[in-house]
Amino acid sequence: MTHTEQNLSLKSEALIAKENQYGAHNYHPLPVVLERGEGVHVWDVDGKQYYDFLSAYSAVNQGHCHPKIVGAMIKQAQTLTLTSRAFHNDQLGPFEEYVTKYFGFDKVLPMNTGAEAVETAVKLCRKWAYEVKGIPENQAQIIVCENNFHGRTTTIVSFSNDENARKSFGPFTAGFIKIPYDDVDALEAVLKSTTTTIAGFLVEPIQGEAGVYVPSEGYLAKAKALCAAHNVLFIADEVQTGIARTGRLLATCGNCDCKKGCENTPEVKPDILILGKAISGGVYPVSAVLANDAIMNVIQPGQHGSTFGGNPIAAAVAIAALEVVKDENLAQNAAYLGEVLRNGLNEIAARNPIITLVRGKGLLNAIVVNCDEESDLAWNICMKFSEYGLLAKPTHGNKIRFAPPLVITETQIHECLAIIERALNDFR
Ligand code: PMP
Repeated sequence: MTHTEQNLSLKSEALIAKENQYGAHNYHPLPVVLERGEGVHVWDVDGKQYYDFLSAYSAVNQGHCHPKIVGAMIKQAQTLTLTSRAFHNDQLGPFEEYVTKYFGFDKVLPMNTGAEAVETAVKLCRKWAYEVKGIPENQAQIIVCENNFHGRTTTIVSFSNDENARKSFGPFTAGFIKIPYDDVDALEAVLKSTTTTIAGFLVEPIQGEAGVYVPSEGYLAKAKALCAAHNVLFIADEVQTGIARTGRLLATCGNCDCKKGCENTPEVKPDILILGKAISGGVYPVSAVLANDAIMNVIQPGQHGSTFGGNPIAAAVAIAALEVVKDENLAQNAAYLGEVLRNGLNEIAARNPIITLVRGKGLLNAIVVNCDEESDLAWNICMKFSEYGLLAKPTHGNKIRFAPPLVITETQIHECLAIIERALNDFR
């Protein structure tokens, strides 16, 4: 089957045609039209059930339409939705107290989307650099990694090396230095050669969009130590890896109380922590930047904000979503079932050479398909998964990410492995 041949119902076809006609073509979705979700499942407009193996890019960690989170949203939506930050609201303070204690930071700056939170972190880091570290005005630089994905704003694509994301969007924002990912020597070399102007190091603990690249053991701890030694802020973008996805509350495992399963990996506390996606369980756009007072206090009224950031619905939803993560032991579930999933995928790979590599942590995983990045094969495999009742999407051509909601059970993981193997066998 190619990109264009698919057996779609008339209803699906008509809805896809509407999107194509009236919507900007800024995405290339799989041809599936969903209308309902519950837990690990979603249903299309024809009533077909699927396992969701993407979880809205790890936003729906708590499962679709979690009743506790949806309940919190409905209750708050019927009471007070938006005040702007021109006035206080009775939900924001309790959320700020809850989220800062939950992750072990002095303060939080709430925003809405992941990209906005990354922008916030960049601004915060620069301001700290000028006003606390004493870097001369307009000279601050932030180190970033090759193949990063931090969002889609003009500043963020300025430090991407994805040509498709950048082409014809210049001129770009200056002040970023790119180094290879998972390379402490490269980090140290830049820190040593440019000591007076480096403000921060922005890093994904696992590069999700790039194809679930897990860095070598100890990379983050070494990078954090280097940053600390050079008075440079270690900024962790945990928009995708955070909130239990990788088997721990945070992939950097900051100062949280979820110590189980962390024994063999050093804790790395970021100076600035960026969260989004699953902080709301995918129910509402909520993002957050956390830092201690010495950093966060550089932001004064009028210097940053958003009409919707910290609104009462967001605050109520985020508390409920974070409670679910603890109440349902989602970090532990992700750690355990991640092992089960990777073991199963490795067994499939041993039987079918179409998988060349299995990698990941917790329930953030990917398989690398035996083809080049330009090939249609991974897309066609995802079409087959969809036919057999599992939704996943290729990332960077020949990698397929497997990131189900963290409420999945062991029995369901085995069912999914069976679907995956059956589909892959069709491509032998
Ligand atoms: N940072 C990372 C690591 C991400 O994976 C993403 C989204 N995939 C973003 C930032 C951007 O988040 P959003 O799409 O909510 O702007």
